[in-house]
Amino acid sequence: MQAQSGTLFTISAPSGAGKTSLVRALVDAEPSLQVSVSHTTRPIRPGEMDGVNYHFCDRPAFESMLAESAFLEHAEVFGNLYGTSQHFVEEQLAADADVILEIDWQGARQVKNLLPASCSIFVLPPSEAALRERLSQRGQDDEDTIEHRMAAAESEMSHYVEADYLVINDVFEEALLELQAIVRSQRLQTHKQAHRHAAQLGALLG
Ligand code: GDP
Ligand code: ADP
Ligand code: 5GP
Repeated sequence: MQAQSGTLFTISAPSGAGKTSLVRALVDAEPSLQVSVSHTTRPIRPGEMDGVNYHFCDRPAFESMLAESAFLEHAEVFGNLYGTSQHFVEEQLAADADVILEIDWQGARQVKNLLPASCSIFVLPPSEAALRERLSQRGQDDEDTIEHRMAAAESEMSHYVEADYLVINDVFEEALLELQAIVRSQRLQTHKQAHRHAAQLGALLG
């Protein structure tokens, strides 16, 4: 897979840190950014839509896609399988679009190994109390699930050191501006600009 003027971004965070809300706002602010919709074996939550939040599928369907090498990366998170469509990512990058994957640290590691030119971002909450509060206020998980996710959070968060960029989601609007700055700086890399503006640069420089 050869990225041209597009960038492949990964964004990882412990559950409840705010990555889904941040990615939604980021895509509104940066419309050229395409979000990959993952496949998952997790049961659908109230308010989620198949094909929008995820492509929901059962384990045998996921495993047969895996056998056909349909996934760029995949991982098991909280007992459910998640995977990124290789076809979608390839298609977007071939069209010079920027793509963002909202994936766990295991997936982010696989993507970085496969595509070192990709850009990895980690989002952390400002405190453990804020993380717990956000998981509760989201109102989608029962107490047991919240405890399970809180228990996993510390070891998940330790993987921030592997990312290229670290954003602390304390004040939402500031975290969003920081994400926009990351996206724009990647977009402005000289070799990407040269590809994007080849005709203009040719005319300018003869
Ligand atoms: P939430 O992040 O708490 O809203 O929970 P989700 O069910 O949306 O995500 C669960 C975990 O799976 C998170 O760590 C996601 O980043 C991760 N995840 C989602 N999609 C993918 C994917 O396609 N590949 C991988 N490797 N991880 C994914
Ligand atoms: P994730 O996708 O990382 O699990 P969500 O985007 O679902 O996280 O966010 C978890 C909850 O925290 C949501 O209810 C969201 O509205 C809230 N939230 C996100 N960012 C902030 C912030 N900076 N301050 C307060 N609440 C936030
Ligand atoms: P949730 O089930 O709460 O939506 O997501 C749980 C975790 O799975 C989150 O950390 C989310 O980022 C991760 N996740 C979602 N999709 C993928 C994916 O395609 N690949 C990987 N590796 N992780 C994913």
